[in-house]
Amino acid sequence: INNINWSQVRADFPLLTREVHGKPLVYLDSANTSQKPVAVIDVVDDFYRRHNANVSRAVHQLGAEATEQYEASRKSLSRFLNVRADELVLTSGTTFAINLVAYSWALPRLQVGDVILLSRMEHHANIVPWQLIAERTGATIRVAELLPDGSLDMDGLWAAMTPEVKLLGLTHVSNVLGTVNPVREICKEARKRGITTLIDGSQAAPHMQVDIASIGCDFYVATGHKLCGPTGTGLLWARRELLQSMPPFIGGGEMIKEVRFDGTVFNNPPHKFEAGTPNIAGFVGLGAAVNYLSDIGMDHIHAREAELLAHATESLSSFDGLRIYGTAPGKAAIISFLIDGTHAHDVATLLDLEGVAVRSGQHCAHPLLQSLGVGATCRASLAFYNTHEDVDAFVLALHKVRKLLA
Ligand code: PMP
Repeated sequence: INNINWSQVRADFPLLTREVHGKPLVYLDSANTSQKPVAVIDVVDDFYRRHNANVSRAVHQLGAEATEQYEASRKSLSRFLNVRADELVLTSGTTFAINLVAYSWALPRLQVGDVILLSRMEHHANIVPWQLIAERTGATIRVAELLPDGSLDMDGLWAAMTPEVKLLGLTHVSNVLGTVNPVREICKEARKRGITTLIDGSQAAPHMQVDIASIGCDFYVATGHKLCGPTGTGLLWARRELLQSMPPFIGGGEMIKEVRFDGTVFNNPPHKFEAGTPNIAGFVGLGAAVNYLSDIGMDHIHAREAELLAHATESLSSFDGLRIYGTAPGKAAIISFLIDGTHAHDVATLLDLEGVAVRSGQHCAHPLLQSLGVGATCRASLAFYNTHEDVDAFVLALHKVRKLLA
């Protein structure tokens, strides 16, 4: 990573130069949403200034340009994740993508006696849709529990994979603990047992080289706004035959070949699942975002974030009364913590006054926080555009905050 000029990379993000409460901004909330480089901002601006039109409808020049840019982004995403472009369904985000699988794949297939296996560390987006499906089908939900360091209890997981399990929904990386799950090994075991797998890559795709083809899952989902892209963008990947076997989720324009009142012929996947006018400018931005990340190199990004995480962990190790939740080896650059005798929201509020943005609360993971026995945590999440100075400013501000609250 020595040949990357990281201060130049940081300068690609205009927002990071602003001040908050009169202090230079230290943005440590990238697990919530990432900041956007100028390459993304410019391409969205240019789209609306010069190319704006609807996709796949008009024969005029602008319509052709908009369609071409939109489909070029699908290709960029397919290169980024090493899958076929016609197997990528573009969605509004991870939440929509998981709901698509829940309603289109699971609802027609599951029945009483079937089990949906989830892990304790899932985001609500990978819990609530399954509860809704369980309620409608009579299937039940089973939970794979964690070890004290925040990694999956693998023996427990294997034992939970009984013949009743039809689907395993698992996050690739935990948004609270930073744990990176061994998804390849898990999907291999699941496949042997005939269990369909859905991997939530929301927190993985922004931070490591994700090669979906080599993971061996059935469904992979991710969200664009954590990938330096615009909000309202995301994706679902599944093999073509699997997509073909699923009925449409949302009906409307774009997803049909022919509509008659006595029967409609649906378009082929992925278009079958993309009803209505999509977030065209958003996806043009997301295409630019993944090309930007690829230019830096996901391996470089991963190494840079590991280095920043090591620096932060080392600096916090001598902080009296600070406890970090999630210490699994090889974890992503996410630090959930609490300081004895303080409340997470108070710490986050005072950090904000120092210009440091962290998230506090339950991080859309109530069942996980319940099992940790805490009502809330503070979460500092790092990205490759953060610096060692950001880490130092955060630790310094944290000492100041503790003094104020003690
Ligand atoms: N899964 C995980 C692991 C997440 O971190 C998030 C975003 N916090 C989501 C799903 C939901 O993503 P979105 O809100 O973009 O649909």
